[in-house]
Amino acid sequence: MHMSASVTPAMRQYLDAKQQHPDAILLFRMGDFYEMFYEDALVAARALDITLTSRAKGANGGGIPMCGVPFHAVDGYIGRLVKKGFRVAICDQVEDPRKAKGLVKREVVRVVSPGTLTDASHLDAREPAFLMSVVARGGTLGVALLDLSTGEFSAAEYAGADGVQSLADEMAVLKPREIVVPAEVELPPCIGASGLPVTPIDAWTFDDESARRTLLDQLRAGGLEGFGLDRRPAAVSAAGALVHYLRSTQKADLAHVRAITYRQHADALLIDPTTLKHLEILEGSEGGRDGSLLAELDATVTSVGSRLLRAWLLRPLVAIEPIRDRLDAVEELAFRATDRGKFRDAIKAVQDLERLVARAALGTAGPRDLVGLKVSLAVIPRVRTLLADLQAPLVRSLVAELDDLLDVRSAIETAIVDEPPVLARDGGFTRDGVDKELDDLRTISRSGKQIIAEMEERERARTGIASLKVRFNRVFGYYIEISKSNLHAVPPDYHRKQTIAGGERFITPALKEYEEKILGADERIVERELEIFEKLRIAVAAEAPRIQASARALASLDVLGALAEMAAVNNYTKPHVHDGDELAVVDGRHPVVERRTSADAFVPNDITLNATTCQLIILTGPNMGGKSTYLRQTALMCLMAQAGSFVPAREAKIPITDRIFARVGASDNIAKGHSTFMVEMQETANILHTATSRSLVVLDEIGRGTATFDGLSIAWAVAEHLATNPEMRPKTLFATHYHELTDLADATPGVVNFHVSAREWKDDIIFLRKIVPGRSDRSYGIQVARLAGLPLPVIERARAILAALERDELTRGGRPSVSGTPVEPQQQMGLFQAPPGEDVEKAGRLREKIAGIDVDRLTPMDALTLLAELKKEL
Ligand code: ADP
Repeated sequence: MHMSASVTPAMRQYLDAKQQHPDAILLFRMGDFYEMFYEDALVAARALDITLTSRAKGANGGGIPMCGVPFHAVDGYIGRLVKKGFRVAICDQVEDPRKAKGLVKREVVRVVSPGTLTDASHLDAREPAFLMSVVARGGTLGVALLDLSTGEFSAAEYAGADGVQSLADEMAVLKPREIVVPAEVELPPCIGASGLPVTPIDAWTFDDESARRTLLDQLRAGGLEGFGLDRRPAAVSAAGALVHYLRSTQKADLAHVRAITYRQHADALLIDPTTLKHLEILEGSEGGRDGSLLAELDATVTSVGSRLLRAWLLRPLVAIEPIRDRLDAVEELAFRATDRGKFRDAIKAVQDLERLVARAALGTAGPRDLVGLKVSLAVIPRVRTLLADLQAPLVRSLVAELDDLLDVRSAIETAIVDEPPVLARDGGFTRDGVDKELDDLRTISRSGKQIIAEMEERERARTGIASLKVRFNRVFGYYIEISKSNLHAVPPDYHRKQTIAGGERFITPALKEYEEKILGADERIVERELEIFEKLRIAVAAEAPRIQASARALASLDVLGALAEMAAVNNYTKPHVHDGDELAVVDGRHPVVERRTSADAFVPNDITLNATTCQLIILTGPNMGGKSTYLRQTALMCLMAQAGSFVPAREAKIPITDRIFARVGASDNIAKGHSTFMVEMQETANILHTATSRSLVVLDEIGRGTATFDGLSIAWAVAEHLATNPEMRPKTLFATHYHELTDLADATPGVVNFHVSAREWKDDIIFLRKIVPGRSDRSYGIQVARLAGLPLPVIERARAILAALERDELTRGGRPSVSGTPVEPQQQMGLFQAPPGEDVEKAGRLREKIAGIDVDRLTPMDALTLLAELKKEL
């Protein structure tokens, strides 16, 4: 940056602030604008598509590149810059410009980055916005996650060889907006490779002692035992550093971050990112939310509930009691349709409590946010009444956790009018009677205005000008307007201020006297209102933990109500979740596909899996027959049950599963430069390394990415390993197009064959979609190809080849010998080339013999004899 001795004091101030934040675009408040200068201006003008101007530098000429945005629209611009990957530092005027002696004091009040963008317009109400920090302590990775927009805060540790994989999975599933790491410290490459924004910060903030102190201070706690974080130095280090980062960028005390949970890996049913994708849990096959399990089940009516349901599906439980508690609650709510309806209706009025209280804590809340909070909290007593009769222990304990928060509600109710403006700086939102000074000021303002109105009457009478008007504008304040035709009647004590098209504007000393009183009062009123609001905001923020606790209880109730609603509407059944081994579903359905097929067209299917008789199912059958649907629905039912949801089935016994692995349908990692086959093998390797006897594995067409025999061999070996390795033997569904694999069932205990049924009718195929025992006799590939519209000659040709293959009529070269085969050029025999399958040695002898003939010396008789000999030898 070129600095010149002639910089103005304001530019000097700018340069100082910029020096503190070299990595951020600095927005510098000047009057009604936030200005950017130098490099920042060039970059921002391009990114925001706003006009670049220049600010005169002074006598030595040249200009400083500059651009600006109006202060009242700044949030939108900040959001756009951050979404483009920039950090933004906001440098505000921190004293009243009118009272400043000389230069107004300015300070950076906030730094906004992707992980700290909390403006509602840039957040999805149904998704969290996590900021992550990662540190390595010996062989252990410490990870902390914080959603600044809600205050949700957690930490975890990943140790050992799988640690890095776990971290990579976590990043892929939770998609943090930003990852904070210690600067100049080596960390696992998966962090950089994730493509997520990484922010290096001072490494010392991760130091054990300082991180611990920061964390304790933030949590207002004396020790970390209560949070399960004692003896978790890596987690504490990551969490403490994250708090430090937020405090230094937000310059707020984060009153909504007063608790942290330790996330134990083994506390949840683990779902890796590939499984998440292949089961279409958060996203449907087209990528959006549409067609996903989440979209299907999300009947929640509040944002907090919607986010919680998402969290439940991402981390289903593994402990039997809490699962049964959820299921019992869903059951009761499912049966009590009227209570459920009333309850769900009531909580529709609940706004995003978590984010409202976060805004209060971050200092970004306006009067309307506090009123929203009040209105939302007012629903709580009604919820308590509506759910009073319910017996399910989980419902009862959640209702007991609801706090009416009367103190908070009445503080807001007392101070703020029911329909306030969005922004506090607009004023006019404080009720009368709240504050003596404010009331007095308002009296002055009102009576001043009254006096001016009376003055208008008086002047009209005095001058005899009936159209005389007292008006107000920002430039002149109060003035008297007289139309042209009446100007002759203006008294001498009027001072002319301005001539306008229709007349002239005047002021009088009396008018100015009252104006001063009124304007002084009005200005002070806004100031006073802001003071009152700020006090209230801080008081509300101080109650954040109580508000959050109630918000979370309400969210859980909302989710339970939504699951009950779906259970009732979609005719789901309560699964019997147990600690044993048997998975047994009668008439299971796919929750999403069944809703997308026309009424009653979905064919339900049974399934049994256990460690003894039916541990691995080899599933064969035609493409489009319904194999992947069956695989997915089985995995989804396990997941739903452990999340606490009813399942789409007539009966379901579901054993607790520790991990679900699903590889169903095409992988699209090809874009990242891996071949399909490579990706498939990596994923398979991961399963073979990590599955346990309590896992559920569903694999679709393993080995399809390579040559037939390779593929078959790999599929066979994988299935065999899953079925026989005593360390593992997870419950497995193995769909394959290699019919040879069905032989595995003959020799391997626990391996059974099933196929999806289909019938041939004339030349067509009819999918029955029923899963039945035994191997399938045919694959109907050609019929499916016909359905898909392959040209008829190609279909005919394929039929002929298939027929030959089935008769095992292969040539020695391994190609089907089909009459009418177009002969490929390289297959045309050369004269002295061994015909396919012929004895190479004999051909060699013939060739030698012929080559040895000396044609010049050959008599006609010899030639004939030789020819006969050759013929004989052939
Ligand atoms: P595959 O994996 O065997 O190729 P899919 O499971 O993808 O077959 O199913 C193909 C289509 O058949 C699905 O898109 C769905 O519309 C339909 N389908 C699958 N299973 C069923 C079922 N049980 N009942 C009705 N339709 C089904």
